[in-house]
Amino acid sequence: MTSDAIPFNRPYATGKELAYQGEALGNSHLSGDGAFTKRCHQWIEQRTGCAKALLTHSCTSALDMAALLLDLKSGDEVIMPSFTFVSTANAFVLRGAVPVFVDIREDTLNLDERQIEAAITPRTRAIAPVHYAGVSCEMDYMMAIAERNHLKIVEDAAQGVMASYKGRALGAIGDLGSFSFHETKNIISGEGGALLVNDPAMVSRAEVIREKGTDRERFFRGEVDKYTWQDLGSSFLPSEMIAAFLWAQLEQAERITHERLAIWDRYHAMLAPLEQSGLVRRPIIPADCQHNGHIYYVLLAPGIDRQGVLRELKNNGIGAVFHYVPLHSSPAGQRYGRVDGGLQLTTSLSERLIRLPMWVGLGENMQQRVCDVLGAILNK
Ligand SMILES: *Cc1c(COP(=O)(O)O)cnc(C)c1O
Repeated sequence: MTSDAIPFNRPYATGKELAYQGEALGNSHLSGDGAFTKRCHQWIEQRTGCAKALLTHSCTSALDMAALLLDLKSGDEVIMPSFTFVSTANAFVLRGAVPVFVDIREDTLNLDERQIEAAITPRTRAIAPVHYAGVSCEMDYMMAIAERNHLKIVEDAAQGVMASYKGRALGAIGDLGSFSFHETKNIISGEGGALLVNDPAMVSRAEVIREKGTDRERFFRGEVDKYTWQDLGSSFLPSEMIAAFLWAQLEQAERITHERLAIWDRYHAMLAPLEQSGLVRRPIIPADCQHNGHIYYVLLAPGIDRQGVLRELKNNGIGAVFHYVPLHSSPAGQRYGRVDGGLQLTTSLSERLIRLPMWVGLGENMQQRVCDVLGAILNK
């Protein structure tokens, strides 16, 4: 078989996307911050409790905005995992800051909160926890560290839409948070994202940064009689066509999450025997974390040839993939970043991880086939 009979991802549409885009066209308002954008903002604010939600072109641009809001200076440091997507680091490096990579926890693959304090220096300004697979970091512990050391917290909640920690929505716990609506995430608009501003003191500056550094937002609200260049900024707001698409997804976010969790739970049950025989380790969800079924991964037992397993899965028509190449081992990570402590778990766990097909509509029979083929490969 050459093409993937069971693809890794299949973007899900609710069916209302095109109708809402037609409505946006009918509104004769295609640039940003029209009726659909406002609906999306309200929805995120009500769901998460953040002070202000602002749609962006991507999670990457939301993180760029966060880095601008923190007023980072050259040489300032931001503590983050190395096991993450490049955007977590890039946003801060663009401001001249240094990503300081700290190891991850064995259970969740999230930044190890117990190793953060040892990495703090007089230049440390912020912590950027990443909620891997929509499973929360240990936020209370990190918030206490941030408070003691006067640091800001920027949550990379790209994967955390609809997930929570002790009942609090991911992205709305730290000072700032970011969502992704990229087509590979749970709730999508092709490309898309949002900045969640939780500190009310940062809201008006966030609006200015997003509107090319102008106070256009205040002008539209009638608070000033003309708008002018106020601050650093760029164009971070998506068009109404994107917001209209996103609205069709947010309306169904509850159901989409529910369906993903059902798929996740089925994999978890089907793969229990492989874990019992010691060939894989399944994901571990701490009691305080309500996840969102974003990723189903397994960690292959040490010594198993991951590339070989992925190749055989592919030969059987199954689209399984690995995940992050740790940033500290990448050319730009070595140029711009610094490592604190050993990153043994980051290195060893990232080399053992494979993600299984996960998308709304993935049927039980397809999942059974994925698990049967994986079992047959590993038991050979
Ligand atoms: C997907 C992802 C991003 C980037 O999101 P975009 O919307 O594609 O910019 C950043 N961080 C993490 C952890 C991600 O998973």
